[in-house]
Amino acid sequence: MNTLKMKDWGLGFGEHVIIAGPCSVETEKQIDDLCDSFEKEPQIGMFRGGVWKPRTRPGNFEGLGEEALPLLQKVKNRLKIPVCVEVANTTHVEAALKHGIDVLWIGARTTVNPFSVQEIADSLKGVDIPLMVKNPINPDLALWMGALERMNGVGIKKLAAIHRGFADPYDKIYRNKPNWNLAMQLKLELPEIEIINDPSHIAGKSEMVQAVAQRALNFGMDGLMIETHPHPKKAWSDARQQLNPTELFNLIKGISFRGRIDFENQIPENLKEMRDSIDHIDQKLIDLLSDRFHLIDQVGAYKKAHKLSVYQSGRWKDVTDSRIKLGVEKNMSEKFMKSLMISIHDESIKRQERQIANKDTEPLKII
Ligand code: PEP
Ligand code: MN
Repeated sequence: MNTLKMKDWGLGFGEHVIIAGPCSVETEKQIDDLCDSFEKEPQIGMFRGGVWKPRTRPGNFEGLGEEALPLLQKVKNRLKIPVCVEVANTTHVEAALKHGIDVLWIGARTTVNPFSVQEIADSLKGVDIPLMVKNPINPDLALWMGALERMNGVGIKKLAAIHRGFADPYDKIYRNKPNWNLAMQLKLELPEIEIINDPSHIAGKSEMVQAVAQRALNFGMDGLMIETHPHPKKAWSDARQQLNPTELFNLIKGISFRGRIDFENQIPENLKEMRDSIDHIDQKLIDLLSDRFHLIDQVGAYKKAHKLSVYQSGRWKDVTDSRIKLGVEKNMSEKFMKSLMISIHDESIKRQERQIANKDTEPLKII
């Protein structure tokens, strides 16, 4: 997979890149004010500005469109940093390229649609422009990877991902639930891809942006894209989540950009020993789990022979309650213990269901 290495590309702040700018480009004054502030703080590696805004319902501000692109060119000339814009169709791509936009990104509502992604990819054949792909609205890793693969397939050489969280109507904390695990899975599947975190769209409210940004760095993300507006309350879109420049600079000062261990040979000896011990414990954990499932299979054989239901609620309640209590006594959180036990139980039920459904199962040997 071709990737966009922010650092090699001369972008960024240390190992990380900070992308800042308004949700939407609104007026020349808004852009000039932001440039005045950003000029004093050199940490900003790239400027973002939405020009075509995907709004859920019509009637809201849908972006200035192509006429905003000269304003981004102005930013580029003043701040001497690359500018990036969201493109959602081939007309947007054409306009962005015509106006010398440096980096494109695919928005969450576009990543969900492979037809749109492919059309955009085809329009970029032979164009050497860096491109970032936001995660789709729904927590579907394959769609996110698929969009990156489609772009890779047409030969785009500098690719990165943006993690902006996932819609979850039941979540009361986030505007878009981070689902950190899924972003980490992308890292596992495509280790060479850099992931920029967008704490603004995850948090949905300015006072939570810093906490989300810090978590993203704790997870080893490669940069942050933060919506910034000279007067957030007056913003024409996403007013609630944008930071003003002072808040942005305080955030950059306030979070810790931790280093990463990139190469195995950089690992200090004592850390290596601790990791070896962890590997050993994991091996034991897996052996123990396997023993446990072996017993589960024997209980399954008994249930099958005696026509008993797989799920026995009384027993299960005793097992979870007592294990959670034991775990909490050993300094593990109740939430973790609960999800661990639920996951073991789910797997046990599935094994016994398979066993009962399979009429040809060999009788189990009793150990
Ligand atoms: C944006 O970055 O302003 C935007 C519309 O984001 P998303 O595609 O993540 O909703
Ligand atoms: Mn926005």
